[in-house]
Amino acid sequence: MIDTSLKQLSADLAAKKFSSVELTGAYLDRIEANDAAINAFITVDPDVSLAQARAADERIARGEAQPLTGIPVAHKDIWCAKGWRTTCGSRMLENFRSPYDAHVIQRFNEAGAVNLGKTNMDEFAMGSSNETSFFGPVRNPWDTACVPGGSSGGSAAAVAAALAPAATGTDTGGSIRQPAALCGVSGLKPTYGLVSRYGMIAFASSLDQGGPLAKSAEDLALVLDTMVGFDARDSTSLERSAEEYARMLEEPLQGLRIGLPKEYFGEGMSADVRKSVDEAIDEYRKLGATTVDVELPASELSVPAYYVIAPAEASSNLSRYDGVRYGYRAENYDDLLDMYCKTRAQGFGAEVKRRILIGTYVLSHGYYDAYYLQAQRIRRLVARDFAQAFEHCDVIMSPTSPSTAFRIGDRTADPVQMYLSDIYTIAANLAGLPGISIPCGLDGAGLPVGLQIIGNYFSEARMLNVANVYQKQTDWHLRKSPVASN
Ligand code: GLN
Repeated sequence: MIDTSLKQLSADLAAKKFSSVELTGAYLDRIEANDAAINAFITVDPDVSLAQARAADERIARGEAQPLTGIPVAHKDIWCAKGWRTTCGSRMLENFRSPYDAHVIQRFNEAGAVNLGKTNMDEFAMGSSNETSFFGPVRNPWDTACVPGGSSGGSAAAVAAALAPAATGTDTGGSIRQPAALCGVSGLKPTYGLVSRYGMIAFASSLDQGGPLAKSAEDLALVLDTMVGFDARDSTSLERSAEEYARMLEEPLQGLRIGLPKEYFGEGMSADVRKSVDEAIDEYRKLGATTVDVELPASELSVPAYYVIAPAEASSNLSRYDGVRYGYRAENYDDLLDMYCKTRAQGFGAEVKRRILIGTYVLSHGYYDAYYLQAQRIRRLVARDFAQAFEHCDVIMSPTSPSTAFRIGDRTADPVQMYLSDIYTIAANLAGLPGISIPCGLDGAGLPVGLQIIGNYFSEARMLNVANVYQKQTDWHLRKSPVASN
């Protein structure tokens, strides 16, 4: 069961080869046996998961199953799920039980999927290594001395360790794609607006987008079908007719034009990453694709612009954690102001405070024009670069991350170095474009390398096709981490 694709799991459930209760139980047993070493989960609640599995089995018996009915899916602990503790990786929400379901959780429930548990993450999704979590770092299943990437590190590690067949994540600047790359799994950030942000705890609202992590492009397509959908409760949710994202998975890649941005293949990437990405692009040439050089001249400004815009939005979004409405409240305080100060001083970790300080600064009178407005202008240039590039190509390829998984502790002292982990992923968020990461090799130490595919708006089905044809030809996505083999 553990190595099986979602489509096959669905067929096996329908054929009564095993029940959802057995399948869910098998994953809960794996979590019980292996998660102490990985720390991918913040909360598991076997009773609730198994009750959902029993309901799914009844639904299957009634002949009312949908593709994900009975399939366990782990959810990043940023999604509010009714009755579940929802922490966002923070002390601030350590004991918060959500009174409602996020739109995405509601859609999984309607599909009859089983909530397998809530996965660990960087605090409020701020980070690239999962080391900012209040619940301790997640360990990479390929080498437990290394980080899994972040901020959806728990979800990526859960899939890589075979503790879940699929998981959800969110991506503000790379948080689905970068951990997918570092953990050797597939991850997709959709076009901004396709997946509702209702009930997804906000970090930087104009950049945040939910998406799936799974073992293959084919699995991603199935999970994406469930996640995407219009929701009037999110004012940026797009109203579009439903798509079946797997509809063109097998189409030949003859004639596909791959854009290679020269800015993404310069200095700064490790030799191992370069080698694997070059080999992957050669494989695409063999599959009938052609490559063209494209230019993204504003890309060097992406990281600085992101680190103005994302903290600005975060400083506003996180002002709601004041100790009054919900979440943590300091125990001893003198008056209201002291309560606010102590609550926020104790409830937030260092990285979150750094972002709030930067965000408040760049939005303040006298600095707004110099920083925030300039960053918004850069954002427009980044989007324009992509629009021009897509006149010459169908997809853009690059590494997902400049390096493979680094050791826990290696980058915590240097925030700027940590921020550069997302140098290839952030531009897609600034432009609102979809991006995928798929495994495309292993480095000298046996750690996974990720290939990033960026597509034009709403080209998810085509991107999944591009990823799937490669995966049918290669076996990088089938390689298993040591923990997955336990
Ligand atoms: N690593 C980036 C940051 O820390 C992106 C995080 C994300 O995508 N949530 O902001």
